[in-house]
Amino acid sequence: MALNKFSRRDFIRAGSVGVGALTLGQTFSSLAAILSKPKKKLGVALVGLGYYSSGQLGPALLHTQNCYLAGIVTGTPSKAIDWAKRYNIPQKNIYNYQNFDTIANNQDIDIVYVVLPVFMHKEFTIRAAKAGKHIICEKPMALNAGECRDMIAACNKAGKMLSIGYRLHFEPHNLEVMRLGQKQVFGKVTSIDTGNGFTYRGDPNAWRLKKALAGGGGLMDMGIYSIQGSRYTLGQEPVAVKARQEKTRPDFFKEVDETVYWELEFPGGFKTTGKSSYNNDWSYLKVEEEHGKFELGPAYGYGGIDGSVNGKQMPFPQIVQQAAQMDDFAQCITLNQPTRVPGEEGLKDMKVVDAIYRSLNSGNWEKIG
Ligand code: NAD
Repeated sequence: MALNKFSRRDFIRAGSVGVGALTLGQTFSSLAAILSKPKKKLGVALVGLGYYSSGQLGPALLHTQNCYLAGIVTGTPSKAIDWAKRYNIPQKNIYNYQNFDTIANNQDIDIVYVVLPVFMHKEFTIRAAKAGKHIICEKPMALNAGECRDMIAACNKAGKMLSIGYRLHFEPHNLEVMRLGQKQVFGKVTSIDTGNGFTYRGDPNAWRLKKALAGGGGLMDMGIYSIQGSRYTLGQEPVAVKARQEKTRPDFFKEVDETVYWELEFPGGFKTTGKSSYNNDWSYLKVEEEHGKFELGPAYGYGGIDGSVNGKQMPFPQIVQQAAQMDDFAQCITLNQPTRVPGEEGLKDMKVVDAIYRSLNSGNWEKIG
């Protein structure tokens, strides 16, 4: 197929997603794959219509090019009525948690996006895979690494793609940090310090504060980003960790961690520092290399990211991170290419989290993996 048959917009759109991973030959065969069939936006069904779906994912799906909000899964009939009206969702695409498996028969739904409390991630990911759907699962991927392995195995068995809601892999400031760190633009990385947290003032009975439902506290919810920050700055996997914790509101954080500090050791002995909290407003990533430094702050949220390189502000725009993330996944499905944030990426973080909890118990360095 000749290139002049493609519009410039098609070329840019097809090539802009994950282009770093494609050879020119692959790009052309990808383009052929897209253009050989009529363009279709993939249908997404959001499972769980809480804070993140309502405030971010639903609205972001109004900005997506490659996918759209086709269905919802909810246990609350009043939410179903509201969402159906707001997003023009037909009754046949509305499910509850009991009849969810019949989504297998619904051709409108290509992707199931699991946006539930953590203890439900494994169950709904596996049910979605069995129903023949591709899956995005929110972070943290599951209660522990063992559950992540089961989820990956189920998706592989069903021949369906699994992605984790790691929106920052599509965010320009964070992408720049990955480039500067992994390519060692100013020499070897000599220091990484990062923290993420917020002051939890919500419902004391919420699932987030229950170990069995959330897997943990600030570490699971916010620390995942700090762990990611170190990993994607270096482009390496940590081998060991030592952690300690602090609780200033033990009456509130009865079952889960409040503030956790850790050191991650990477191959060769290089160490980074990280922290997470449900009692401090942190969102930063500071990196020093031999001949320069760069940092992000806020680093990890979706209310605006800022950063600097050697004291000069990064020139990147704010984007709808969730739209970029979902569009990329839809594109990967259409092109039959791997996502940059697969289940394996979630598993890597959960192996670190598991080792941090082991270290909090033992007081020692713990191996990861
Ligand atoms: P939430 O509590 O606001 O929403 C959870 C939804 O699950 C609610 O609609 C609730 O009704 C439903 N639910 C079904 N069964 C439930 C049960 N047994 N107990 C409690 N709720 C039940 O939570 P949220 O903030 O929307 O978080 C959902 C997921 O999204 C979590 O994994 C969280 O870490 C993730 N999240 C990600 C980001 C991000 O930036 N990527 C931001 C916020 C939340």
